[in-house]
Amino acid sequence: MVTREIVPGVYQLTSGGTNLFVIAEKELTLIDTGLPGSSTGISAFVRRIGRSVEEISSIIITHNHFDHIGSVPELRRFNDVKIIAHRADLAGFDTAPSYPQGIRRLLRIPFLHRVRRRFVLEPDDVNIQLEGGEAFELLGGLRVVPTPGHTPGSICLYAPRQKLIFVGDALQRRRKKLRLPAKMVSTDMVAAVDSVKKMAELDLEIICFGHGKPLFEDAHGRLLALIECNGG
Ligand SMILES: [Zn+2]
Ligand SMILES: [Zn+2]
Repeated sequence: MVTREIVPGVYQLTSGGTNLFVIAEKELTLIDTGLPGSSTGISAFVRRIGRSVEEISSIIITHNHFDHIGSVPELRRFNDVKIIAHRADLAGFDTAPSYPQGIRRLLRIPFLHRVRRRFVLEPDDVNIQLEGGEAFELLGGLRVVPTPGHTPGSICLYAPRQKLIFVGDALQRRRKKLRLPAKMVSTDMVAAVDSVKKMAELDLEIICFGHGKPLFEDAHGRLLALIECNGG
């Protein structure tokens, strides 16, 4: 796992092109879990900072996609960890899906249907369902900002004190440019633009993505430019 410290006590871990984040305070909190098979790398990292996987008390999920929830079952084995996700990503595979039509059709093929549980969290996998607007006692107050579009229940996690936001896949950074989530794997592109507008109202300096390197320069200006590119 490639690791980097974002601000003191907040680490980005990258494996298979997907990021997850560790917040090391009195307890350990994860934001996302990476692809299936990431738990070994997570434990090794946690040991390196002098902590243990048993200290992971909660996992906050940015959205219900397999590359972000993939290691939930493995991590559950270490500890009685609380899984926290937005309710709109748990409403049901067919009625309020977190995958667009094409991918859902694929997961109905009998073979893939059986492994579906590795692709999505079901409501009973989750201990706390979010509505949006909640705040966690992390980083001096970490706020849940609902940012639908990539999936109905995509959330950003905003830490005002550090001017830091975790956006999951609600935004992407590719070839150094800030972009909307990829259309192929997103459920509502109109909502995705509105969500970027919501982010631009926040006082921000650092953006952490579900994929790619964090952005430390001109985060706010880049968000405004992206909104302008997409019709203001
Ligand atoms: Zn992703
Ligand atoms: Zn995604």
